[in-house]
Amino acid sequence: MMDSAELLEKDRKYLWHPYASMKAALPVNPVVGACGTRIRLADGTELLDALSSWWCVCHGHNRSEITQAIQEQTARFTQVMFAGFTHEPAVRLAEKLLRRTPAGLERVFYSDSGSVSVECAVKMAVQYQAAAGHPHRTRMATVRGGYHGDTAGAWSLGDPDAVPHAFRDVTLRHFFAPRPETPFDADWNPADFAPMETLLEQHEHEIAGVILEPIFQGGNRMFFYHPEYLKKLREACDRYGILLLFDEVATGFGRLGKFFAAEFAGISPDILCVGKGLVGGSVGLAATLTTPIVADTIADGTPPQFPHGPTFMANPVVCAAGCASLDLFDAYDWQKNVHAIEKQLTEELADLRNAPQVRDVRVLGAVGVVEMEPIPTPGEVQQVVRETGVWLRPFGNWLYTMPPFVTTPDEIHQIVRAFRRIIMNGKKTLRV
Ligand SMILES: *Cc1c(COP(=O)(O)O)cnc(C)c1O
Repeated sequence: MMDSAELLEKDRKYLWHPYASMKAALPVNPVVGACGTRIRLADGTELLDALSSWWCVCHGHNRSEITQAIQEQTARFTQVMFAGFTHEPAVRLAEKLLRRTPAGLERVFYSDSGSVSVECAVKMAVQYQAAAGHPHRTRMATVRGGYHGDTAGAWSLGDPDAVPHAFRDVTLRHFFAPRPETPFDADWNPADFAPMETLLEQHEHEIAGVILEPIFQGGNRMFFYHPEYLKKLREACDRYGILLLFDEVATGFGRLGKFFAAEFAGISPDILCVGKGLVGGSVGLAATLTTPIVADTIADGTPPQFPHGPTFMANPVVCAAGCASLDLFDAYDWQKNVHAIEKQLTEELADLRNAPQVRDVRVLGAVGVVEMEPIPTPGEVQQVVRETGVWLRPFGNWLYTMPPFVTTPDEIHQIVRAFRRIIMNGKKTLRV
């Protein structure tokens, strides 16, 4: 086995890390194991994973139920092309998934990442409109402040301000309405939806679909908005014959306290993207779901085929892991856990609002966000991570946690303590 020094040296030489510069790379931690809420490092340190490893390890790391399913399927076969073949893990997972998804969604297209599920969703919307006799409806509408992944197509739907200048002409151009501004638990302000209504009205003949992250704008905003926005959007889309696409890659699988965020508004989208928590964060899988009407309309069009086919589509090992992860949602009261985490984060983060550099504190489900100005430097955060053993990684103006649903009250308290340390810049006592 490589020792840590060699590992880190070679890592630095060969490997790019997410959103990183190869020259001014931040330090990385060599991992040798992960179990439950903990990530174990080569030097024996254990870090409490307050981020569910980018929001996906919802049941905790290395759940035996999931790893066992992976092992059993690995012993049978690990990959087969999904063109011309099918297998039980793919079919069983679809069945389990459709039992949970909002009403009306009954067809599944598997892919390997959330970004690709968004690419597929956009292609479905455009192909549906062409097949339905609206060939000019080729563009998408969305809201500012969104995040839909990093592939060029998905990126072009994220907040335009988040795209570096060099890419401005590479990303496709869509229609952007302002960000939804009414907070989740505030009184609904009807003016919030008006610009989107105007946009759809003015461009209805060019727009194939509206895509957004329901309730929670995550990757580019960390903001919870009002469910009424989604109800109004559903009504408007129906009025104009525009498809409604929900990207629930981050919000799906219980993160906000409902299985899907669409449930807060009591509506169903025409197309749904899922990823991250779909396999409990054990291995990569995503899917794009749609209604029989959309699927059948595409099938009646020219060409009748949907033009997409990832090499590892419906990988059997990954699908088997997905089945085990979905079964886990029945094996413990995840919703009770998420509500308990929500209550504790709400109570314990409340007084941080009074700290001078804190602009807002927001909690919904198992998501806790502190919006700050200024944000601490990566060096300051790393020091707190080392001292508290809590793995945090603020970005933008947001210090946040999205812990696994199995995180204990003591551990949540530890996370809040680490928040306090970061906010007070490493000082021992926080005056608020
Ligand atoms: C993370 C995320 C994606 C992208 O998923 P990847 O698996 O990283 O490609 C897309 N949409 C939303 C809302 C996300 O949070």
